Amino acid sequence: MTSGGDAPGMNACIRAVARACQYYKLECFGIMQGYEGLINDDFIVLDARAVRNIINRGGTILKSARCAAFRTKEGRAKAWNNIQKHEIDALIIIGGDGSLTGGMIFQKEYGIPVVGIPGTIDNDIFGTSKAIGFDTAVNTVIQAIDKIRDTASSHNRLFFIEVMGRDAGHIALNAGIAAGAEEILIPEQEQGIENLIKTLKYGKKSGKSSSIVVVAEGDKTKDNVYNLAQQIREELPGYDVRVSVLGHIQRGGSPTYFDRVLASRMGIYSVEILREGKSNVMIGIQLDKLVLSPLKDAIKGKSAINKNMVRISKILSV
Ligand code: ADP
Repeated sequence: MTSGGDAPGMNACIRAVARACQYYKLECFGIMQGYEGLINDDFIVLDARAVRNIINRGGTILKSARCAAFRTKEGRAKAWNNIQKHEIDALIIIGGDGSLTGGMIFQKEYGIPVVGIPGTIDNDIFGTSKAIGFDTAVNTVIQAIDKIRDTASSHNRLFFIEVMGRDAGHIALNAGIAAGAEEILIPEQEQGIENLIKTLKYGKKSGKSSSIVVVAEGDKTKDNVYNLAQQIREELPGYDVRVSVLGHIQRGGSPTYFDRVLASRMGIYSVEILREGKSNVMIGIQLDKLVLSPLKDAIKGKSAINKNMVRISKILSV
């Protein structure tokens, strides 16, 4: 099943799981709409041909949902009935930390083997350097910023660009560096409006005619991006300040090569480790090797921001 926020590459992962099952002569079901489908008995057969022509598609053919009922014992009891009815031996859950938490609780209650695969554009899962969908989202953001830069530089404007990331600045930091942002505001770092003003003033003095500031949704200024821009307008009259909120374009789109290959590797590995009798783990990638961590660690841990990347962004915007 896919659960929680959708991410590009989820389809490639579903395809890999279905194909690996066929390869190893295992029966595979897809559960529609995450835990909602598990409770409502919405299952489909996923043989190798059922997943044709989806490796290139964003979103998820199994659909995704947020399911309040699965947070209750009664909801999970209904889900367990359906698992028994279909004689399901194990669950593979592709999603964010909320989805993996649900899986861990279900496993503890009923003993069903669970394998988690990290799928989230926010990349905020401990135990993996990359989650499925992150690479595509960063590339989408870069393309959008490149386009905005054309306008920023033609009109000598200062642009505030808000990107996704309520609790994690991975998209902002990576896309900001790759798209040449002057300043990057992320939830993990207290930056302070004074420092931002200093940077912008210095930039103008040193000959910059336009600037781009990338702001993660949850940045530490705790203000919405429009108010932040207004504050800068007041502090720095003479700057032509504009705001662009990228929004949901960041979630969709055809997955990059990286996400397709990562999703394919993780999908196949999930079936292989279940065959070896391993479960209650999340698959991650570290230094290009697939690794396993206990589900409870993946959920509890926080994916730290790479401090060196913060340093790099400062050097590059001198
Ligand atoms: P994500 O997986 O992207 O982090 P959510 O946090 O919305 O997304 O979680 C997806 C779903 O996982 C929830 O709608 C719920 O059904 C299930 N879930 C999350 N946390 C729990 C929990 N503590 N107990 C049971 N189910 C949970």
